[in-house]
Amino acid sequence: MQMTVSPNRQFDEALSHTQRLAGIGTITASVAHELNTPLSIIISTCSNMTHEIEQNNLSAERLLHYIGMIEQSAWRSARITESLRNYSANGRLETAVTDFNFIIEDALQLVQQQFQGEYHIQLNVELQPDMKSIICDHNRLVQVVLNLLINARDAIGDDDGVVCIKSWETDEDGYAFGFSVSDDGSGISDEVMGNIFDQFFTTKPAGHGTGLGLPISRQIVEQHNGRITANNNPDKGATFTVLLPAMV
Ligand code: ADP
Repeated sequence: MQMTVSPNRQFDEALSHTQRLAGIGTITASVAHELNTPLSIIISTCSNMTHEIEQNNLSAERLLHYIGMIEQSAWRSARITESLRNYSANGRLETAVTDFNFIIEDALQLVQQQFQGEYHIQLNVELQPDMKSIICDHNRLVQVVLNLLINARDAIGDDDGVVCIKSWETDEDGYAFGFSVSDDGSGISDEVMGNIFDQFFTTKPAGHGTGLGLPISRQIVEQHNGRITANNNPDKGATFTVLLPAMV
């Protein structure tokens, strides 16, 4: 059977890919920075081992300790590069069973260093433990979380701020899972609120905003039969909430 793809869908897919590539530009520096930590641990551990062997001073117990450190750092590096590879992958929904919190943790992995280094953003992570698994396109949902985190970061800008990310199980309106990203940044004015999910709508300076983060996030959430909503917080900033069913 021949599958036909509507022009709208082709357009959406092309946009999605373009936006992912644009996103890669902004996160590459932070990923490179993030990789430096485990690589430095590996290098200094090897140098310590060499020194202790030369001094005839390396016990089996210490050797095991060093090997453990190297192994842990290598796994950490692999996880970081895997997140980046997943983020750049193109294509339709590829669904699989996944731990819901892994989606959030993978996205956090990509921004953590930048939030706390280049920016002054405290990340509060409140993930419900021991959640059921979800059947979804893990990589695409990582992209959604990442888009929301990047917007939260931009709403805070150079000020000190707090971004809170939460996950929970729910039975609200037949959905099974929820997560939210909230910030204490600028908030969303009434005139802007009606347009934030429109393609190419951005209030960011030229070169910073593509106006594609939210429309693409909504497209991905809706492909999963989920719902994304935006609200201003009573005190300051905004909260984006995503609800998803247990399977697509
Ligand atoms: P972009 O980030 O490239 O501008 P988006 O589609 O992701 O594109 O966002 C569209 C607009 O929605 C932003 O330019 C901003 O005005 C608004 N917005 C999104 N998230 C937030 C937020 N957390 N706080 C305030 N405004 C936001």
